[in-house]
Amino acid sequence: MPAKSLQELFVEELRDMYDGEKRLTKALPRMAKAAESQELGAALTNHLRETVRQVQRLEQVFRTIGEPVRGKKCDGIMGIVEEGKHAMEELEGSVLDAALIAGAQKAEHYEIASYGTLAYFAELLGNEKAKNLLGQTLDEEKAADEKLSTIAKSKVNRAALMGAGIDEDEEDYGRPMRLSSRRGGGRAMAHDRSRGGVRGNGGGRRRR
Ligand code: FE
Ligand code: ZN
Ligand code: FE
Repeated sequence: MPAKSLQELFVEELRDMYDGEKRLTKALPRMAKAAESQELGAALTNHLRETVRQVQRLEQVFRTIGEPVRGKKCDGIMGIVEEGKHAMEELEGSVLDAALIAGAQKAEHYEIASYGTLAYFAELLGNEKAKNLLGQTLDEEKAADEKLSTIAKSKVNRAALMGAGIDEDEEDYGRPMRLSSRRGGGRAMAHDRSRGGVRGNGGGRRRR
């Protein structure tokens, strides 16, 4: 049945995210286990803990509007999880880690869009409690996305580029080709929009 009002759309989107989060609570442990980098594994496990709390927060939001707690198949997260499964079947080592980060960040961006919308709907509907709960989760998703960017840029994608395994105790991956090894050296695959790098004047180079 098509949603007819903003209130109904709000409930539809809540159900979508409820299903999406539940899928992620199953996918994240598999991804953490598959990760070669300990830092990546730990970040995914940490986000799993947050995700469990996010599911509970959605249940609280359902309660604020007197709706039954119910999910509705989230095709978006399902597709992202499916792609991650393929990566885990086909890749290994540091290249798999790079793919796991890419997949996890796609999920975070999907969630950031959904929770941003949900929090705004809650505000429009005058539901302060729901707005705060959804805003809390939104902040966690943004932080998780940034954390993944940091891990990608610090080690994982460089290791994938060098075709090397990751040695957590080693800062040095042998002879870096001509890549700048300074932090932020532009080859990391992970994008990082949240830090103001890309703002209007494409490329983000400083201009005066
Ligand atoms: Fe989440
Ligand atoms: Zn969805
Ligand atoms: Fe998330």
